[in-house]
Amino acid sequence: MGAASSSAGVAGQLNKKTVRDADLAGKRLLVRVDFNVPLDPSGRITDDTRIRETLPTIEYCHKEQARIILLSHLGRPDGTRAPKYSLRPVAERLGDLLKRPVAFVDDCLGPTVEHAVQELQPGQVLVLENVRFYPEEEKNDPTFAQALARLGDIFVNDAFGAAHRAHASTEGIGHHLPGVAGLLIEKEITYLGRAITSPARPYAAILGGAKVSDKIGVLNNLMERVDRILIGGGMSYTFLKAQGKAVGSSRVEADKLDLARQILEKAAAKKIDVLLPLDHVITTSLDAGTPVKTVNVGDIPDGWMGADIGPETAKAFVAALRGAKTVVWNGPVGVFEQPRFLEGSRAVAQALADLKGATTIIGGGDSAACVQQLKLGAKMSHISTGGGASLEFLEGKTLPGIAVLQDK
Ligand code: ADP
Ligand code: MG
Repeated sequence: MGAASSSAGVAGQLNKKTVRDADLAGKRLLVRVDFNVPLDPSGRITDDTRIRETLPTIEYCHKEQARIILLSHLGRPDGTRAPKYSLRPVAERLGDLLKRPVAFVDDCLGPTVEHAVQELQPGQVLVLENVRFYPEEEKNDPTFAQALARLGDIFVNDAFGAAHRAHASTEGIGHHLPGVAGLLIEKEITYLGRAITSPARPYAAILGGAKVSDKIGVLNNLMERVDRILIGGGMSYTFLKAQGKAVGSSRVEADKLDLARQILEKAAAKKIDVLLPLDHVITTSLDAGTPVKTVNVGDIPDGWMGADIGPETAKAFVAALRGAKTVVWNGPVGVFEQPRFLEGSRAVAQALADLKGATTIIGGGDSAACVQQLKLGAKMSHISTGGGASLEFLEGKTLPGIAVLQDK
């Protein structure tokens, strides 16, 4: 989809019915959530954020006296019953968080499931086993989707993190049941949608991360909308190299140099300010204990690589963000996993946290982790839970798990 048509693609996803528009009392709701939590080698949940993100929708449906049947995937069992990817521990954690009993069945189809659904009383919660234990799930098999749909009266999609995938439980069910968005998807499309269709200005985007190739779609789409683009992270070296600057052994995508040049020309033609790094924090390798120094742009010696924006760049970025009314940040501006290369991302995050009356949106899994690591999460307007789904939304793509829901 081209950049020009992408606003229309997004607009079509903004007017979807949500749980607030449906009569839920007594209804069997098939609620697709994203319980794809990280597990340690012994199978313990290491971070329950994704479970917590589903609580508003579950509590809302509970209050409305719906019968709540939760569907999710976990990990990549590849269509087989892999016990280590069972949702049973997730159901237990959900019960702890809700402070109410949560039922669990070790399948997502079949007589035991049907029985458990029949027994389910208004307001009660039932978690079904990992839908990816069936190969039909990822194939979006219509018979499988229909069998799932038979368990419910209404399809509620709240799995934003899986909405860019057309699988049976994220999209297929929506062809057999009326579909509405849960409160998490509602929040995601409200924030991300406004950033695409009706942003308050000035509007700035900060793009970083490892590779230009990961961000071309986002860059092209945001280019149609923003007033200013700040480029840091690994992707900045491809742009600098395209301008003929020495980048040492920094990460460069040689096949993207022409594209980087075209993007800069397009930005200039549109009178969009593009800020590239003025200085860098460099090192000889990303292994621990290697030397670190700060140099100006163009001065990266051979054998050295850029791993963070330098202090002058951070200052320029902070100044460029002052007064912004909408900011989208996708991609850390340095190798933030290492404290020695975190300062640039810290300056950017702090600048966003300090903005008054602005909408600040963090997209992308690593960017979200970076902001949380800096303990500035609560200061952002919205941290997208989507990872790949947020990126596709910011690229202007239609997410199948949202498109299938009913229009208002
Ligand atoms: P997101 O998940 O938010 O979309 P990305 O996955 O695109 O972000 O990028 C995050 C990764 O980019 C991090 O692992 C980070 O270490 C890496 N990165 C940032 N700056 C650099 C750099 N200068 N060189 C190499 N990698 C970088
Ligand atoms: Mg990432």
